[in-house]
This record gives sequence, C-alpha cells and structure tokens, in this order.
Amino acid sequence: MSDFDYDIGIIGGGPAGSTMASYLAKAGISAIVLESAEFPRPHVGESLVTATTPVLQEIGALAKVDAAGFPKKYGAAWTSAAKETVPEMGFTGMTQGFRLASVEFQERDQPGVDQAYTYHVDRGKYDQLLLQHAAELGARVRERTRVQDVEFTDDGVVLTAVGDEGTERLRVRMVVDASGRQTMLGRKKKLKVPDPVFNQYAIHAWFDGLDRKALADDPEQEDFIFIHFLPVSDTWVWQIPISETTTSVGVVTQKAKVKSSGQEREEFFWECLGTRPELRAALEKAERVREFKTEGDYSYGMKEVVGDRWALIGDAARFVDPIFSSGVSVAMNSARLLAKDIVSAVERDDFSKKSFGDYERVLRRGVSSWYEFISIYYRLNILFTAFVQDPRYRLDVLKMLQGDVYGEEEPKALTRMREIVRRVEENPDHLWHPYLGTLRAPAAAPLF
Ligand SMILES: Cc1cc2nc3c(=O)[nH]c(=O)nc-3n(C[C@H](O)[C@H](O)[C@H](O)COP(=O)(O)OP(=O)(O)OC[C@H]3O[C@@H](n4cnc5c(N)ncnc54)[C@H](O)[C@@H]3O)c2cc1C
Repeated sequence: MSDFDYDIGIIGGGPAGSTMASYLAKAGISAIVLESAEFPRPHVGESLVTATTPVLQEIGALAKVDAAGFPKKYGAAWTSAAKETVPEMGFTGMTQGFRLASVEFQERDQPGVDQAYTYHVDRGKYDQLLLQHAAELGARVRERTRVQDVEFTDDGVVLTAVGDEGTERLRVRMVVDASGRQTMLGRKKKLKVPDPVFNQYAIHAWFDGLDRKALADDPEQEDFIFIHFLPVSDTWVWQIPISETTTSVGVVTQKAKVKSSGQEREEFFWECLGTRPELRAALEKAERVREFKTEGDYSYGMKEVVGDRWALIGDAARFVDPIFSSGVSVAMNSARLLAKDIVSAVERDDFSKKSFGDYERVLRRGVSSWYEFISIYYRLNILFTAFVQDPRYRLDVLKMLQGDVYGEEEPKALTRMREIVRRVEENPDHLWHPYLGTLRAPAAAPLF
C-alpha cells in the first residue's frame, strides 16, 4: 500500500487524542483525528493533577487553558466522619482521630511545573479547547465521524470511518487508538482484561449553590477537590468545583453494593450521602442542574498496548479507578511519551512494535505506581492518611498526587506502604488489622 492519506490516524479526540495530534502537528507529521461526537460533549473526569501542566506547556496550550476561566486547583482535601481514635502505630497527626487531611501542590517543587495550581474543568469546554488547538497547529480534525473498523495490510492501516459524508476508507501508516473507555482497537484485538479487583461504579451530577466550605477547615480550601470518605466500605464522594457556583458531586462504590441495594440510582446516591449527614444537608440546599449519570465496568487492563503499526493511549490503554484524579494526566502524558517514539518511527520509516518500546516501558511503570497506590488506598485507607500527614512521607505522597510517576525510581512511600500492608495483613493481632478493606489487589504484581 502506498499513497497514504495521512501518516497517523487517531481514533478519538479526547485529551489523549488531541494531545497526540498536537505533538505530531508540531513535529510536522500529518495526522487526522476522527471523533465520533460533536464537541462540546459532556464527559466525566473533571479534576486535573499538575502533571498535565508540562504537557499543556509543550503543546502550547497552557495560556489558552489558563485564560479559559476554569477554577484553579491549588490542592486536595480528604474528610472523614471518623470519631474514634485510630492507633497511631508510629505515625504523627492521627491522635485526634482523622477528620480532615489536605495537601497543596506548592509544597513540592515539580520538574517542569512553575505554577502552584492546576485546574478543575468542564470537560465539554476543556476537550473542545484542546481539539481546536490541535487543529490550529495543523492536525486534521473530523468530528461526528466514527471509526468503525481497522484493517492492517502489509505496509499500512485502513480505517473505515462513518461520518456526515458517508463511509470512507482512509489509508494511514499507523493507527493510535485514543477512543477512551470504548477501547475500540483493544476490543477488536481482544486485548481487554477486566480488572480482577476493582469493579467500581459511579453516580454523579452537577449542583448549583453547594457551600463548598461546608466541610472545609479553612475557607482557602474552597476550590480544592474534596474526597469525602463515607463510613461504608470502599465508598467515597468527590466534590469538584466546575465554576464559581457549580460543583460536580459523585459517589464511587462497588458495583455489587448498588446491585444488592435494589435501589434506583438517585435513591442510592442520596442514601450513601446520608451516611455523612452534614454532607447530605449541605447538598440538599443546592440545586441539581444536570441529570444523574452513571459509569460502570470501568476498571480494566490490556494484554498489550503497542504492536506493529498500532498503539493505545489514555483510557484506551488502561483504566483503574479515579480516586486520585489521575485519568486526564495519564491520557495526556501517554500521548507525550508515545509521540516521541512516533516521531522517530516516522524518521526511520519503521512502525514495528519495537519502535514503541520506550513508550510501553515508561507508561507501564507510571501506571503500575498509580495502580498500586490506589490498591493500597482501598486496602488500608488509614495508611494513606497516615502517610499524608507524616512529615517523613508527605512530599513523597504528594509527588504521586501530582502525577509525577514516570521517573526511574519507585516512590519510597509506595515501597514503605507495601511493606506495612503486608505486615498488617499477615498479623491478625496488628492494631490496624480491623481497618483492612475488602478489596484485595495483587499489590506486588499489578496487571497492566
Ligand atoms: C467515575 C470517574 C471519575 C473520573 N474522575 C476523574 C478526575 O477527576 N480526573 C481525571 O483526570 N480523570 C478522571 N477520570 C478519568 C477520565 O475521565 C479519563 O481518564 C479521561 O477522560 C481519558 O481521556 P481519553 O482521551 O483517553 O478518553 P476520552 O476522554 O473518553 O475520549 C475518547 C474520545 O473517543 C471518542 N471515540 C470513542 N470511540 C470512537 C470511535 N470508534 N471513533 C471515533 N471516536 C471515538 C469518544 O467520543 C471520546 O470523545 C474519571 C473517570 C471515571 C470513570
């Protein structure tokens, strides 16, 4: 096959696809983004971490994002209803019983980041801004165009795209799947493996007029993301500012809990919030301005993420659980990492699997750290709050919360947390043993 229409075909124009298109356009490589929706379209995943900042800067979109008026996110806070005193076990800050812990991004210098904040975003606006940016840099963008099939030939790839002008077959050198949780190519190639541990479920909506300081210690935290732990195992609530007056609120729980409750989603949402009466009371005073939406079956890995003439990025490659707001940052950083390999593959005209080895290695390492961090959080969440509050580990935990997970070395807090969880699991008399959660991840060998 010769006479390619484009060098690279990108399936999906979310943050992963648009970031990939921007990097390629900047490198002078011809790329097309095929996006099934018409933007702006609503999307879950509204709170960023600071690891997105260097990517936005590199593709030249940071000033536009900053000017768009998204609420600035300076930090994160976790609240709990716990009244009992948790045994300290050598950690500081837990004597009063944990009620609120918080971090600010500015506490730790992060390479490539020179602003103390990131953003909470209306994903309709954010994703549109990034996609338009890619188009302005020279990438071809086609909305309302669904990729229906991908065929691999001896020397290229044919994408069957269905759009306003009917069905078209586009010839490209390589395809990048950025189709999000639809995992277009992963499903076609039968690579998808449901996560053996996490089967979480989320119910969420937007509310106007929520007093975001209701559970804060300090009015300065008003625009932090809040994670409210509920006294129901493996269940928590996000509170994310969307504008000055609008707040996104979502309950995340195990899918089995929703099923066994036999309740409608709205009833289940309010009952969960009722386990923190002060939270429910604050939300009841606000007005819901978007329908409740649910997200299910969202934790999975892929047996492979790269191959001859193809690669998966963002949620199309893997998704675990949104507790640490890692998704958009992984989407954009996976595009950054893969773009480097693609630029050199184009130069060498070699799109074989080995050309994308660096991407695969670094992504696996970063995402494995996230996975284990999340697993440990669910297994023993008092350990997470102990580490956040203890000066010995605080900055190392913050490093992960910033999304700074692609370096060579494993964060030392993670190594230490793994050891402690193992000790607590092995010793039924350990004072923290009763606090172990039910989700038991294979912490030492996370599935990709
Ligand atoms: C409950 C929940 C809460 C979350 N909270 C957060 C959070 O607070 N912060 C955070 O960073 N992340 C969060 N996430 C994760 C975040 O939503 C994702 O990681 C992020 O959207 C991934 O970006 P992406 O570009 O890979 O995929 P997407 O943003 O999903 O984009 C994929 C695009 O591909 C298009 N598409 C799909 N199939 C095709 C096709 N065949 N042809 C053409 N186009 C196609 C879709 O229309 C879509 O626009 C959350 C996720 C869940 C489930």
